[in-house]
Amino acid sequence: MNTATLEKKVGYFGNYGGQFVPEHLAVKLNHLYEVFLSYKDEPEFKAEFANLLKTFVGRPSPLYKAENLSKLVGSTIYLKREDLNHTGSHKINNTLGQILLAKRMGATEIIAETGAGQHGVATATVAALMGIKCKVFMGKVDSERQKMNVERMITLGAEVITATDGRATLKDAVDAALTYYVHNPNSFYLLGSAVGPHPYPTIVRYFQSVISEEIKKQIQEIEGRQPDAVVACIGGGSNSIGAFAHFIDDPKVKLYAAEAAGEKLEIGKTAATLTLGKPGVFQGAYSLCLVDENGEPVPSASIAAGLDYPGIGPEHAHLKEINRVAYHPITDDEAVDAYKLLSRTEGIIPAIESSHAVALAQKLFKDKNALVVINLSGRGDKDVSRL
Ligand SMILES: *Cc1c(COP(=O)(O)O)cnc(C)c1O
Repeated sequence: MNTATLEKKVGYFGNYGGQFVPEHLAVKLNHLYEVFLSYKDEPEFKAEFANLLKTFVGRPSPLYKAENLSKLVGSTIYLKREDLNHTGSHKINNTLGQILLAKRMGATEIIAETGAGQHGVATATVAALMGIKCKVFMGKVDSERQKMNVERMITLGAEVITATDGRATLKDAVDAALTYYVHNPNSFYLLGSAVGPHPYPTIVRYFQSVISEEIKKQIQEIEGRQPDAVVACIGGGSNSIGAFAHFIDDPKVKLYAAEAAGEKLEIGKTAATLTLGKPGVFQGAYSLCLVDENGEPVPSASIAAGLDYPGIGPEHAHLKEINRVAYHPITDDEAVDAYKLLSRTEGIIPAIESSHAVALAQKLFKDKNALVVINLSGRGDKDVSRL
């Protein structure tokens, strides 16, 4: 298997993906894909993106050997420090890439959805950088549990619009943003994860794959070999696909993703889409989704706003089907334990989302003597007042 075969049918990963949207949106999305294809390998675009990643974001992010955690677990564990990026998570890699496309398309307004607020902050940040107006849609529940990020977005000059439908979390923010986008076709929808209709899963993967490109190089320099495993948390699937992308073709590197089990593995109390989800069309793509007995999407539940989403990126549905990535559910309690453990053993407060990956690595690699990289997708400043 190679990466090229994953995309044989445009916008599909095996059986999953596609573009299930009204005709006039399809026209816009296909135009976005053409713009992406025409710029992604263009030297000037690449140079601008690379320079901003370096001087604005602070890349390459360090690969840190977590000695204390390694001793405790019984494997050699490295942390890929996406938490050290400007704005505090991996989200900025993708928002920068997309806003450079938006700029070239002459966009005058950026819209975005956000769960934990990390994507909203990252989008408000790059919109300020480029001088483009920005509206961020956020579920009311999320805006209350991630207040600091709401204040950061406002400080950055963005307008925050709260969505009150459903459980008022990420799914409802996406619905509100999509509705706005349908009615305001001149806006640029800056999507925050590897989800939604084609071309977003492909575009987001491309901009986030800088993570695995760096891991590969860094671990080779430090350890003289590639890792036995890479572990990442998974909400919609962007930090994980970014951390996996350059390893997918190397079967010696095992890939693991930690999804949010929530309180427990029961529909209504969980966000474990890859464990419990069923195939269907959801928010513009054919993928897996948490549904009720009638096949209707049901709200997800997780302590981590960034993982609290009933859908999943289509490439992950495919990677699960072909058994290339192993997806494991991690409960709220397990994530909180890992959050405290990493804070106290390494002096690094992880995002509660990223803590799911730490918890999974601990479970899988206890006394295994393996060489493991955990993608630490974000920092936990936003979580300290709550956990
Ligand atoms: C948004 C977010 C996630 C989940 O989103 P993915 O698209 O699955 O990466 C994970 N960690 C952090 C810190 C986030 O902000």
